[in-house]
Amino acid sequence: MRGIYIHIPLCLRKCPYCDFYSVRYDDALAEKYVDALIRNFKSGRYKGLCADTVYIGGGTPSSLDEKLLDRLLCGVFDNFKIDKNAEITIEANPCSVSEDKLRAYLASGIGRVSFGIQSADDRELALLGRLHDYDMAEKAVLAAHRAGFDNISGDIMAGTPGQDRESLLKSIDRLCSLPLKHISAYMLSIESGTPFDNDDIRAQTADDDKMSELYLAMAQRLEEKGFCQYEISNFSQKGFESRHNLKYWLGEEYIGFGASAHSLYAGERYSVPPDIGRYITDPLQSEDPEPLPYDEKQEYIMLHLRVKSGISISRICELYGNAAADSVYAKAQIFEKNGLCVINGDSISLTASGCLVSNGIITQLQYECDMHNS
Ligand code: SF4
Repeated sequence: MRGIYIHIPLCLRKCPYCDFYSVRYDDALAEKYVDALIRNFKSGRYKGLCADTVYIGGGTPSSLDEKLLDRLLCGVFDNFKIDKNAEITIEANPCSVSEDKLRAYLASGIGRVSFGIQSADDRELALLGRLHDYDMAEKAVLAAHRAGFDNISGDIMAGTPGQDRESLLKSIDRLCSLPLKHISAYMLSIESGTPFDNDDIRAQTADDDKMSELYLAMAQRLEEKGFCQYEISNFSQKGFESRHNLKYWLGEEYIGFGASAHSLYAGERYSVPPDIGRYITDPLQSEDPEPLPYDEKQEYIMLHLRVKSGISISRICELYGNAAADSVYAKAQIFEKNGLCVINGDSISLTASGCLVSNGIITQLQYECDMHNS
C-alpha cells in the first residue's frame, strides 16, 4: 500500500544549517495553507486512494495548533482510505508541544511522534541555533510518553560545531535513557548558501576522518543500547522501524502534498514547487507537477543498499541478467573481505563501515550492472 506525505513548510525560526524549504510560521498563513492542503486532498487525481502510512513532516508541523492539525487529519480521513493499522507520524519540535497538545494529537489519530532533539548538550544546541535546550527536549519526550505515545522517535546529529566523541556518546546515552523506540542519526552536512556555509563554522565542524570516527562510534553505541541499524541513518528497537520512510528506500509509492513535497506515483517521480504562496492560491498545481528523473532499474541498488535487507542477487539477475548478477556478486565478495558488506544467501547488505562509503560502493555495483546492460 502507498504512503501519504504532507509537508508543512513553516518554522518558528530558521536553523542556520538547514536548507529545506520553509518560511516563518504565522497563524493566518498556517490556516490558509491547511485549507489549501484540504482542497488538494479533495481534488480528483488522488481522491479515495488507499494508504497505510501518513507522515506529516516539515518544516515544523508541531507549530500548527491542535485544532488546525485535527482539521488537517480529518481532511486526510475524509478523502483517502487510510488503513486501520496505519502508521501516522508527526515531526515535532520540542519547544512547540505540551502534554495536552500531544494528547490531542493522539485523539486526532496520530500514533507516532518524531522529535528533532539533535543533541543533549546545551552548548551544541545553541550553536545549532535550536530553540530548545535538552531539558525541554527531555520534558517533551516524557510528556509524549505520559500522553500515551508508545512509538516515539528522536533525531540526533553528529559532527556539529564543537562536538567531540565524548559529547556525542553522552548525548546518545541520554537519548537512550528516554522512552524512545527509534533514533535517526544524521551527520551534519554544510549546505551551500546557508549561514553555516563559512570558514569559521567549517573550522569547528568535524572533517571527513573525524566524521567517520563519530559515525562508527555512534552506530556501535546505539547497537549496544538495543537500537538496531536498519538503514544508513536510522536505528530502532525491534518492530519500530519507520514504515513510512521504508517506502522511500524500498522504492514503494508515496504521494506528497504541499509546497516542495515529492511523490513517486504511477511510475513517475515529481515535486510541487517550493512556493507556499503559489500553493495556497492554486494547490491543484500538484496535479501538473514538476517531473523528476525516474528509472526503477537504476534506483534499485541505490535505494535498497541503504537498508539492512540490502540488495538481492536474484533481483539483479531479473533486472540485468545473469552476467551482471555474477559480476555484482564477485565485487561484493571483495567488499566483504574488506569489512564493507555482508553476503547472506541471496542478499548483500552494508556494514557500518560500508555505510560510510556507500556512495562509492553503489557506484561500483551499478557500474557492473550497466556494463552488462549495454
Ligand atoms: S526546524 Fe527543522 S525544518 Fe525548520 S529550519 Fe530548523 S532544521 Fe530546518
